[in-house]
Amino acid sequence: MTFPQNFSLDAIGVVHSPFKEKFGIPRQPGLAQTPAVIELLPPYAVADAVKGLDTFSHIWITFIFHGISTQEWKPLVRPPRLGGNEKIGVFATRSTHRPNPIGLSVVRLEKIEIAQGVKLYIRGADLLDGTPVLDIKPYLPYADVIADARAGFAQKLPERLRVRWHSSARDVAQDISTDSCAMIEDVLAFDPRPAYQDEPLRIYGMHIDKYNVRFRIDEHGVEIVGIEAVISEIR
Ligand code: SAH
Repeated sequence: MTFPQNFSLDAIGVVHSPFKEKFGIPRQPGLAQTPAVIELLPPYAVADAVKGLDTFSHIWITFIFHGISTQEWKPLVRPPRLGGNEKIGVFATRSTHRPNPIGLSVVRLEKIEIAQGVKLYIRGADLLDGTPVLDIKPYLPYADVIADARAGFAQKLPERLRVRWHSSARDVAQDISTDSCAMIEDVLAFDPRPAYQDEPLRIYGMHIDKYNVRFRIDEHGVEIVGIEAVISEIR
């Protein structure tokens, strides 16, 4: 048999997530407890395909980094955790620019809804809205938890920054659900700025869920300086 070197894969589902753009998405799953939904696509959207999955609390998702700007990859990359100036091998990182743009995330499975299709309600995803899902597998603690694993440059959870609201943003936030506010705070606490940027006066904008959030980051942490509802786009 010849060695099979090219494959064609089908998306079995699509992700609906509050992250409408790459900027601001947590760098790994589980950092922010954001809710998202995986909708299975035909012909995979059948109840039988997820029978028994609801007895698992977590799932692995493999997916395509469909939102990357170029398919180009380089053997050496600069992971943000190394401050953005040290290069290491692409296979020693979780970079989105790799020979095959395939991502791997573990997320909490909260509920499976079977009604006009199959929807998996998940929490903690680091996934862009519209991400094509290649596969879903149950998380198996006996095999997947490795208590003494070494993790090179990324051994520890990144440090959380303190998040505060400017009074004008706080006023607007009165009308926003506590869940959404907590989600925004969680996302900002892990510092979405590119690693090499440290400009305390610079105001960044992020589109998350239904909101445009403006913030800046200095030595005291994150300050949310503005938040407004985005006029909803027709999709
Ligand atoms: N947990 C995954 C992803 C790590 S990289 C893995 O280890 O393979 C995480 C980054 O991927 C996020 O910060 C986000 O910017 C980016 N991302 C998420 N979904 C994406 C998509 N569909 N296309 C391009 N980039 C995506």
